[in-house]
Amino acid sequence: MTPLKSPVNVMKGIGGETANALAEMGILSVGDLMEYLPFRYEDYRLKDLEEAVQDEKVTVEGIIHSTPSVVFYGKRKSRLSFKLLVDRYLVTVVFFNQHYLKNKFALQQRITISGKWDRNRMTINATEYLAGEKGREQTVEPVYSTKGSITVKGLRKFITGAFAQFENEIVDNLPDAILRKYRLMGKKDALKNMHFPNSPEDLKQARRRLAYEELLLFQLKMQALRRIQRQGSPGIAHAYDKGRIQAYIESLPFPLTNAQKRVVDEIVADMESPHRMNRLLQGDVGSGKTVVASIALLCTVAAGYQGALMVPTEILAEQHAQSLQELLRHADVTVALFTSSVKGKKRRELLEDLKEGKIDILIGTHALIGDEVFFKKLGLVITDEQHRFGVNQRRILREKGENPDVLFMTATPIPRTLAITAFGEMDVSIIDELPAGRKPIETFWVKHDMLDRILAFMAKELQQGRQAYVICPLIDESEKLDLQNAIEVFDMLLQYFYGKYSVGLMHGKLLPAEKDEVMQSFSSNEIQILVSTTVVEVGVNVPNASFMVIYDADRFGLSQLHQLRGRVGRGSAQSYCILISDAKSENGKERMRIMTETQDGFVLSEKDLELRGPGDFFGRKQSGLPEFKVADLIHDYRILATAREDAAQLVNSEAFWHDQHYALLRSYLEESGVFSEGKLD
Ligand code: ADP
Ligand code: MG
Repeated sequence: MTPLKSPVNVMKGIGGETANALAEMGILSVGDLMEYLPFRYEDYRLKDLEEAVQDEKVTVEGIIHSTPSVVFYGKRKSRLSFKLLVDRYLVTVVFFNQHYLKNKFALQQRITISGKWDRNRMTINATEYLAGEKGREQTVEPVYSTKGSITVKGLRKFITGAFAQFENEIVDNLPDAILRKYRLMGKKDALKNMHFPNSPEDLKQARRRLAYEELLLFQLKMQALRRIQRQGSPGIAHAYDKGRIQAYIESLPFPLTNAQKRVVDEIVADMESPHRMNRLLQGDVGSGKTVVASIALLCTVAAGYQGALMVPTEILAEQHAQSLQELLRHADVTVALFTSSVKGKKRRELLEDLKEGKIDILIGTHALIGDEVFFKKLGLVITDEQHRFGVNQRRILREKGENPDVLFMTATPIPRTLAITAFGEMDVSIIDELPAGRKPIETFWVKHDMLDRILAFMAKELQQGRQAYVICPLIDESEKLDLQNAIEVFDMLLQYFYGKYSVGLMHGKLLPAEKDEVMQSFSSNEIQILVSTTVVEVGVNVPNASFMVIYDADRFGLSQLHQLRGRVGRGSAQSYCILISDAKSENGKERMRIMTETQDGFVLSEKDLELRGPGDFFGRKQSGLPEFKVADLIHDYRILATAREDAAQLVNSEAFWHDQHYALLRSYLEESGVFSEGKLD
């Protein structure tokens, strides 16, 4: 066992109680202590005021140039101030509510203080009195998050002690070749510099080294998983008459976009190869994923197999069944719809036909994974909006065949870094182009007090025979107040449009059947205005709806707004999206502005990531993203891309699995459980 694994209490000054408190922070061993990194640094090096910018935190040394005076005001508030000569600047120093410091200051005394620089007023709003006459060591000090009885100062001491006693035990887990290739700092120096940086440049290099290491290890795991999956699960080498597919593509009412052609090639290559396809297909709303799916499904049918398409809701299943039947009507295939609403004799017949192979393509909800569903020969499984199905559901569907190829489709544009991270073990195809001739959705940002004009605008559109969505945020279903808001908006619209148009209300408290019913009446235009709290079912297609109002739009993230807005702009009419928001925060205003400026889902998702950070990107639920200590998915994209390439290369090289140089990396993989998780989704 390496000494780094020794429990912290082997160190001087750490007794049982301290060890327990450290354990609460996840620090058990000496090594843990050394790897417990600061979350920021306090810079106590002297600053040249010439270079300091407005509001910058500065540390300065100077000579007191006026007698310090204190003014008391309000309830127990005080203001201590004096002039300080710093180089050739005469600045005012102000301490709020620290009048007791007055005793420490005398005219002509040399002192060091730190605080916020107000350039315009030539004033330093001091926060700390650092030292008197003797001066002070000028340092950058690490700040750690701590818990319980552990203080930042105490922790610094323990960490210093750990390095003093154990630093030579730190072994580099990255092979020399990689260190040399990227001129990375060694592990020992990197860790040391993270805690006690020699210079800003060294700190930067330390970070770079540790970020690379972190991302490489993570990607190694992903790439190893991917390799194990490929080797461990031979798939179906689809063989079929390519002329038939070509003829189908030519029969489509439109030419494929270049992006569609590219992803079709990628998918078809996977299907023809003997390994099992495990691919994510990303394409913005309306980018034409369904056509791509239809081609893949036809390939499997042409090769003598059956295909399945699983979607999250009944409405979506019906819509997909309809469009696939329409698309494939001359392709000589049987397409069937299977949901929990298919009952009795019809259900029995359908299941019988499926088992006998009389049905080529089955489309449905999670009913597809029911125990009584048997395929004759399942060759391809497609799931739409994959993140809404659990890993288990997808696995069960996959197991209804013998290693069928698998394609996950999602309309949620995922920023590159997150795609690589959250779906690192999958191959990814992206449709990054919309069919030509789409009319952009005109988007406006207005304040609440413009409601009258919005309603008048809406009335005008309804008069043209269009329909409208009105979205009220309900971020958390338990927030009664929000539901109350939605009901008020619903009542207001009922009154406003009384006798002219019908209004429906949809929210999360409705039963699934009730939701479906409301959606169905909107779809068939029995309801013209749909007030909804829940995000209207992803992928729902009501082309006649061309108007959307989103209340308190700044409460949504950009990606969510984009998904919502995607419910309109699906027909030939000009569509509109009105964002109502009295956003006060810069972040909120920025989001509203961006929404009015672009409709590119990938641009929006990158922005969203930037504004909200990776943790929030996938919503409140478990994001599936790993927590990185040093790496940052927004700024370290290049490192991530490099680490991914390196990991793939390593995993696919013989040397990696045998050579001594890689022993530490291999043991990391072993410990991380990749080999037992090999059958993961
Ligand atoms: P998605 O599922 O990606 O949101 P769909 O597959 O439903 O998008 O396609 C949206 C619409 O665009 C459909 O009406 C479809 O027929 C049409 N479409 C798809 N591909 C093309 C294309 N290459 N050119 C023109 N229209 C297309
Ligand atoms: Mg295959």
